[in-house]
Amino acid sequence: MLLNEEVTYLKGVGPNKSRLLESELSVRSIGDLLHIFPFRYVDKTKITTIKDLDPSVHCQVVGTLIKKNRVRGQKQSYTTATIKDTSGFLELIWFRGGAWLDDLLVIDKQYLIYGKPQRFKGKMSISHPEMQPYLGEQSLSKVLEPVYSSTEKLKKSGFDGKVRKNAIRTIISRLKTDDIQENLPPYLTEKLQLISKYQALKWIHLPPDLASLQQAQKRIKFEEVFFFQLRMLFNKNYRRLKFRGIPIKALGKSFHKFFNEKLPFELTGAQKRVLKEIRQDLGSGAQMNRLLQGDVGSGKTMVGLMSMLMVLDSGLQCVMMAPTEILAQQHYKSISESVSGLGIKVAFLSGSVKGRTRADLLRHLEAGDLDILIGTHAVLEKPVKFHKLGLSIIDEQHRFGVVQRSRLWTKGNENPPHILVMTATPIPRTLAMTLYGDLDVSVIDELPPGRKEIITLHKYEKHRPQILEFMHQQIKEGRQIYVVYPLIEESEKLDLANLQQGYERLLDFFPRPDFQISIVHGRMKPADKDAEMKRFAEGKTQIMVATTVIEVGVNVPNATVMVIENTERFGLSQLHQLRGRVGRGGKQSYCLLLSSFKLSENSKARIKIMTNTNDGFKIAEEDLNLRGPGDIEGIQQSGGLEFRLFNASEDQDYLDTARSIASIVLKNDPLLESPDNAILNKYLHQLNKGFKDWGRIG
Ligand code: ADP
Ligand code: MG
Repeated sequence: MLLNEEVTYLKGVGPNKSRLLESELSVRSIGDLLHIFPFRYVDKTKITTIKDLDPSVHCQVVGTLIKKNRVRGQKQSYTTATIKDTSGFLELIWFRGGAWLDDLLVIDKQYLIYGKPQRFKGKMSISHPEMQPYLGEQSLSKVLEPVYSSTEKLKKSGFDGKVRKNAIRTIISRLKTDDIQENLPPYLTEKLQLISKYQALKWIHLPPDLASLQQAQKRIKFEEVFFFQLRMLFNKNYRRLKFRGIPIKALGKSFHKFFNEKLPFELTGAQKRVLKEIRQDLGSGAQMNRLLQGDVGSGKTMVGLMSMLMVLDSGLQCVMMAPTEILAQQHYKSISESVSGLGIKVAFLSGSVKGRTRADLLRHLEAGDLDILIGTHAVLEKPVKFHKLGLSIIDEQHRFGVVQRSRLWTKGNENPPHILVMTATPIPRTLAMTLYGDLDVSVIDELPPGRKEIITLHKYEKHRPQILEFMHQQIKEGRQIYVVYPLIEESEKLDLANLQQGYERLLDFFPRPDFQISIVHGRMKPADKDAEMKRFAEGKTQIMVATTVIEVGVNVPNATVMVIENTERFGLSQLHQLRGRVGRGGKQSYCLLLSSFKLSENSKARIKIMTNTNDGFKIAEEDLNLRGPGDIEGIQQSGGLEFRLFNASEDQDYLDTARSIASIVLKNDPLLESPDNAILNKYLHQLNKGFKDWGRIG
């Protein structure tokens, strides 16, 4: 099967390049390579007359060379040439040149020129054009030329645009209809006027013209969103029709005892409403699959805990999974305290629980001697078996994928457990439907009373002395402070140096032993990180200098100041998450956004939104406006389904169409059992299995 062949077999791709292709682009097979689409196209099929040239749009011109000139400037020499066609004159400029250029430029000869024109003092010119003698129509390209994104390493290895294009040409010339598994039934392609998948794959790489390209794009975009929606709705049907939920009958002793005697505060209206929704799900006889959205600090943990109490009283177990060890430990601690005296056994599991302790824990869990298990991903591992699992809670969902969610399912015994996913990354409702179409959504849209708005200010480097002074004062009042630096992989070294520098500057200003400063970054061992986090959480250090590792969930109510360095390098939702680390106690809290003076419009807009509002939902909406949903974490790669072409911000129409078509298809055939839909059924199963075999299945 052509598509499953390794790329090594392609001409010009030896073991070296194929290793790079795998590490840089996750490309292993020919099919993988074929499924990375060009990000733009160069149109060299047409000729534009000089008078019709459009500044800043790449164009191709045919003209006669009438003048050339080598100019010796003071700093730099350059070459100019003038080209003429029937409509006007065009200036060409080279700042680098040499004998080859002199040889190329022959007066009175006709040339084919390609480049991006600009207008300068009323004259059209192109600098460093691509240029070759014009030999008539045969010089024109027959197809739009694809342009692929690449990486420095790949280019250096010799796998550049040209080699890539040739590889793709070879693949496509060998591609037979049979190599491509059609995944849409004829009744859909006809109705929607879509070309075949085979045709689309060919044309997306080498479109003969713009119209074909558009058809290819239409087909592929539709397919991407369609299966995204279809899978979600199908899975929902499947669960509803094939599984029964564990019915939770009346609320019991521990729930009531907790509610009457232990609940440390009055629930907010939103918490009550959401608990009612959950209670209804649990009692319905169907399996609950609910997404609980609530801004940072809105009190999701309490909702989670009380949901567990509802379930425990029916003699079932519960598990709560958090994305980091720290967060899991915090949940463990606060939940253990909350339920003390109720006769509920709570245990903690993470990778760091080992040996005898682990073995005992697993044994008790399976025997049903433990009621609540709280932990990290470790709870998903195979040996972790429950006696009777009734409810799985996933905190901070955006760190987990759909696949992990489904793994919690299989932990059920006869029936799958109820699932509650809690996320602090609010997303607008329409987007939530798209992303979590298989979940019902509950929203906590209210913060507990008495919260003070976090005061957010935008500051520049020149304000640093004042900021240090302010930090000093807060520490004197007994408060604690976060200082956060960005860290992105490409500039990891530089960023670490930055962080280190910032740390040292703080040490100068806040000397030991009067002050203690923690530092945490991604290069540290998890155990060291945790130790530092713990020192800070226990109030042993006053300042925590960190990269974004603290982003998710830590709860240190005594921390009142969040200083963010290089704010322009953070995304909005990240900033909002970071800010949510302060303002957790009763004291007035502050978020100081430091940035450089020169900012892009987009950075300015983000910072302004942050200083204007504390409302996570508003921020999510604004984020969506600024970036388009395509960039929102999760949507580009929702549960292993990648959108290669579909762009949620530009292609909203596709989303709507795909969603309505998917629901019509499933309305007529809820489990895709009719022969007409066999092709959809087969493809969905492959998707659900995380299939990566590009060929047809036998
Ligand atoms: P998040 O939704 O971000 O997970 P948490 O569950 O950590 O928020 O709650 C944040 C803080 O608010 C906790 O200290 C919690 O005890 C407190 N809290 C939760 N609900 C209420 C309430 N109804 N009234 C007062 N405080 C509350
Ligand atoms: Mg939380």
